[in-house]
Amino acid sequence: MNYFPVFFDLKGQRVLVVGGGEVALRKVSLLQRTGALITLVSPEIAVELHERAAAAAGALTLIARAFEPGDLDGARLAIVATAERSINRWIAELADARHIPVNVVDDREASRFIVPAIVDRDPVLVAVSTGGTSPVLARRLRERLEAFIPKRFGELAVWLRGLREASQDRLRDTQERRRFFEAIVDGAAAKRFIEGDPRGAMEVAHQLLAAVAEARVAGDAPAVGEVTLVGAGPGDPELLTLKALRALQDADVILHDRLVSPAILDLARRDATLIGVGKTAGCKSTSQQDINALLVEHAQAGRRVVRLKGGDPFIFGRGGEELETLVRAGIPFSVVPGITAALGIGAYAGIPLTHREHAHSVTFVTGHADKDGREPDWRALGAPGATAVFYMGLARLSIIVQKLTDHGAPGTLPAALVAHGTLPEQRVVTATLGSIAAAAARAELESPALLIIGEVVALQASLAWFNTAPYPAASP
Ligand code: SAH
Repeated sequence: MNYFPVFFDLKGQRVLVVGGGEVALRKVSLLQRTGALITLVSPEIAVELHERAAAAAGALTLIARAFEPGDLDGARLAIVATAERSINRWIAELADARHIPVNVVDDREASRFIVPAIVDRDPVLVAVSTGGTSPVLARRLRERLEAFIPKRFGELAVWLRGLREASQDRLRDTQERRRFFEAIVDGAAAKRFIEGDPRGAMEVAHQLLAAVAEARVAGDAPAVGEVTLVGAGPGDPELLTLKALRALQDADVILHDRLVSPAILDLARRDATLIGVGKTAGCKSTSQQDINALLVEHAQAGRRVVRLKGGDPFIFGRGGEELETLVRAGIPFSVVPGITAALGIGAYAGIPLTHREHAHSVTFVTGHADKDGREPDWRALGAPGATAVFYMGLARLSIIVQKLTDHGAPGTLPAALVAHGTLPEQRVVTATLGSIAAAAARAELESPALLIIGEVVALQASLAWFNTAPYPAASP
């Protein structure tokens, strides 16, 4: 280890900054957040530094002249950022001789300490250093952490401190306190808080407090599970939302549709239990009742359950029905939306679903027959200026085409079938309403596939960008 990591309490401490340009400004703005008393010395000083000094009520003093050795008097820390390398080094040597830790911006050799890349979730602070070997690498790592650490992480820390005070007399000993806070941090409470629902978080915390008391009587660990209904998007794992990713990584149990791609399931924790449910053509299916029962059973055992569905859970996904079961069982739940197949495929196939010149509406419709024999408004679906996207339409393709034609849609209306959309196996077949059934048969398209009808489909010819290399011919 070339450097010893520390966090420096600079509140009320004198820090010397030498230099008055852009770089000095960046350092000053960071230092100001610590409550340091900053003295900045430089013959030329940027306007914004003057503005900051005026607003800082004495915490930032500007001295408009060249550095003099006496400027180091009383400094706890020095940061040097003039444009002259030799001046920087001279100042660094002076500081070092007086045992004042010094950093010369962009000159590691002359520096006694280096400044890490940070992820700031005040009061939580993550500092990253590559020991000065590669600032770019440090920045990339920082960006990843930035995306990974929830924005409300700092607020969560503050909330937890408040909770610690509030729960003091209700938790008996340190072990109980630790167990309670583990359950809060690992469970639904923290998750809710991070999702922007502090009241929901508090509610779960109260439930947990009660459960701790109960467990004290029964002699076991508190258990309040929950279910997160998560949309996995159309296939490409990169189309997951950050919330979906977090839910996957937090889950103890994942009940997933068979449609969800293995690359997405790979994002689950290694020790999570994965249960494939629901149907795909040709496979044994789990009945909806069984799925509901599994959800309730695992949640009641205190586990964090993710119910993972392709696309968006509320678009032809029966998400609503599953939630009703949870409501009846009194199990807390939340919902993470996903990119529904129509949107993912529109984007990846180069078919804008609306367009100022070609379509002013888009309808998502199921290609399944309604069990009560109710029909969609076929005339509206095939009308000029409308786009219709049929889910689950492949098996009934010829019936759909027939119905649309019977209700006035011209045989020349552009139509596309997209199978395995957004995945490397994506295949797009474009034709017209009159010829799409034959084209699909010729191409031997497989489920899952989406049928898109409307003028916008014609744009695909010029807007396609994903996987546009010709599909390899089937081997003889
Ligand atoms: N809740 C899902 C839809 C479930 S219904 C969503 O919001 O996307 C299942 C149907 O979605 C499939 O029959 C198919 O029509 C469509 N679908 C889902 N993923 C698809 C994909 N990657 N490519 C093409 N169609 C897809």
